Amino acid sequence: AKVAGKNCYRFYSRVMDQAAERRMHLEQELRGAWERGELSLAYQPVYRLSDGVMVGAEALLRWLHPEHGQVAPSVFIDVAEQSGLIETLGPQVLRAACGDAARWPTRAGGPPLFVSVNVSPRQLRSGDLPLVVSACLRDSGLPADRLHVELTETAVIGDEAHASTLLTKLRTMGVKVWLDDFGTGFSGLSHLRRVPVDGVKIDRSFVADVLRDPDDLALTTAIIAMAHSLGITVVAEGVEQEGQYAILRERGCDLAQGYWLGHPVAIDEFLALLG
Ligand code: C2E
Ligand code: CA
Ligand code: CA
Ligand code: CA
Repeated sequence: AKVAGKNCYRFYSRVMDQAAERRMHLEQELRGAWERGELSLAYQPVYRLSDGVMVGAEALLRWLHPEHGQVAPSVFIDVAEQSGLIETLGPQVLRAACGDAARWPTRAGGPPLFVSVNVSPRQLRSGDLPLVVSACLRDSGLPADRLHVELTETAVIGDEAHASTLLTKLRTMGVKVWLDDFGTGFSGLSHLRRVPVDGVKIDRSFVADVLRDPDDLALTTAIIAMAHSLGITVVAEGVEQEGQYAILRERGCDLAQGYWLGHPVAIDEFLALLG
């Protein structure tokens, strides 16, 4: 048994070495990937539920690796976050997204489109986010209220006072702040009292089950009611079926995005969508 245990350990440690090695490679390859043109932004449209009008889009980073093809953002964003690369990558994403959005035409009958950019915990902690954002707005000419930043609860947890100061700075500039993956953390509701946000994005995992699981529907309905009583906008993400769209609309959810409404697409395809 001892021998087997040892072999087992060796096996696991080899697997772990491989994972660590792959991460190290990815980190080296991610360095300079932007400059080599391997990174790009995809845009996923966001719709207003009351009338079905497109009101904005979320920018999602894509990495087309020369050998491995598309690398999942969940993998390389994590590598960028752990290695600190996100501190150069994050501002590049913000700059590109603002530059793109500044050129989006307003569609007849619709509002000027916003662009929503994901900001990682490390970017928020570094403290220079308001400076980076104001430089991007100035250089692109994008009006501040058309930029939304999305933060997860984990970015805010820990140092809420620091986060709250930074977010207030952004909001004073006119930028909108959204809390992403809302409902997955343990203290989601209490955060809303201390952290100033304009909107919450109900996590995909709730939306996935609103038609099947009465608890998820109850939670979703409660989040909407509570957010509205605080004057906060509610976005549902991961809408994959018409039925989910219909029930969210019925419950008064403000905005929605998801595969049923539109996949994330490259900028050219997004512009074609705008006509
Ligand atoms: P997220 O911010 O929660 O983004 C939504 C994710 O859900 C995206 O995955 C999107 O493609 C996917 N999605 C959209 N609609 C549906 C749907 O109907 N069903 C399902 N199953 N999925 C849907 P993606 O693009 O793979 O991104 C994964 C995560 O990587 C993002 O989650 C975000 O946390 C992070 N990420 C992506 N781009 C950036 C970035 O530029 N900066 C930072 N810091 N993080 C990013
Ligand atoms: Ca997001
Ligand atoms: Ca999310
Ligand atoms: Ca469930």
